[in-house]
Amino acid sequence: MSHPAAGAFDADSEAQGLIEFVDASPSPFHACAQAADSLAAGGFAELSEREPFPTTPGRYLVRRGGSLVAWDTTGAAAASAGAATPFRVVGAHTDSPTLRIKPQPDHVSAGWQMLGVEPYGSPLLNSWLDRDLGLAGRVAVRTAGGVQTRLLHDGQPVLRVAQLAIHLDRGANDELHLDKQRHLVPLWGVGEAPADFRAYVGARVGAEPVDVLAWDVMVCPVQPSTRIGRERDLIAAPRLDNLATSYAGVRALLAAAAAAEARHVPVLVLFDHEEVGSTSERGATSTLLPSVLERVVAAAGGGREDYWRALAGTVVASGDMAHATHPNYPDRHEPLHRIRVNAGPVLKVNANLRYATDSVGAAAFVEACAQADVPLQTFVSRSDLPCGSTVGPFTAALTGAATVDVGAPMLSMHSARELCGAADPAMYAAALAAFLAPD
Ligand code: ZN
Repeated sequence: MSHPAAGAFDADSEAQGLIEFVDASPSPFHACAQAADSLAAGGFAELSEREPFPTTPGRYLVRRGGSLVAWDTTGAAAASAGAATPFRVVGAHTDSPTLRIKPQPDHVSAGWQMLGVEPYGSPLLNSWLDRDLGLAGRVAVRTAGGVQTRLLHDGQPVLRVAQLAIHLDRGANDELHLDKQRHLVPLWGVGEAPADFRAYVGARVGAEPVDVLAWDVMVCPVQPSTRIGRERDLIAAPRLDNLATSYAGVRALLAAAAAAEARHVPVLVLFDHEEVGSTSERGATSTLLPSVLERVVAAAGGGREDYWRALAGTVVASGDMAHATHPNYPDRHEPLHRIRVNAGPVLKVNANLRYATDSVGAAAFVEACAQADVPLQTFVSRSDLPCGSTVGPFTAALTGAATVDVGAPMLSMHSARELCGAADPAMYAAALAAFLAPD
């Protein structure tokens, strides 16, 4: 039996792979397209949820908007549990805090052409000020053959949210107040008449303005991701929360799929809408994961009994980024659980179940890190600070599977430009690969 080990993941090439994945994924739709392309190169065939799933074992994926599920039944085909073979699932999310373009965005203010936006999720609002911004997302277009959605990525610096000069806000360095309605509106030109966002977007996706029916478009920083630090051992990039897990999950599934045989069906699920609560047709509380898992069992000839038997043996690793201990604010962190970058993946524990981790799930990830020969850190919040949450509690409740919340360490979470370690992507991918294909 061949199992993926840390040696299969080179630190520099995984860091570069993450940088390229992030820069090519300015929206959840692009992240799924990138993941699907990488998985296709590894032999995963894309299926339509509207068609029957193939009964032959194989490597498959489905996409639902900005969400994706991929699985590999080739290695588990001979498993003694048959259709009731349990799953090993790695979960992550594809969305990030940003500013989304409103449906009727065009207006003029003081001779500036402005674009109305609504903050999505919980961005660090100040990090979007005075930054060169492009546009990305998905556009619904009327065609002769019906409505199509087309990806939009305008990586040119077309937008800017301009900060007020210090002379006009002497208190800005003491207390910066940013009103979400008034102070985050990007400008993108000058003139007395409003610009035409519909026409601008249409031109970029090959459609007449009248045929642009609707959009899911957001702003994105255009500055490329890069390695920084004296030793270049850090990565500065947008959307590391949670494209770093999405990328590591893709790499892990490809490695697990290369394992010759398996006692589990390895699964990767990437969810949209985590940053806004996960309740949608494709978020972590949706039918996406349970319906696909049930159909995988059905395609293998199993019934509902087999589905529930498979879930009873399933373990989910819900991956989302973790807070490294901040050097300037060490008091904001639990003193007995310091987290460092370039020091390995992070097990996330919260007694009040903001993270789904319990001892059974935790043990599965501890064993995975041991198998991959990577160090493991453990995060808990200070008891006097609220703890963030992620997709793990939702998938745990929907599937009844033992669940562990994990992550990779980073600073500046929810900033337009985040920071992580350059050695961590390889260790993270190795740990997740070992989790998907345990010895
Ligand atoms: Zn996240």
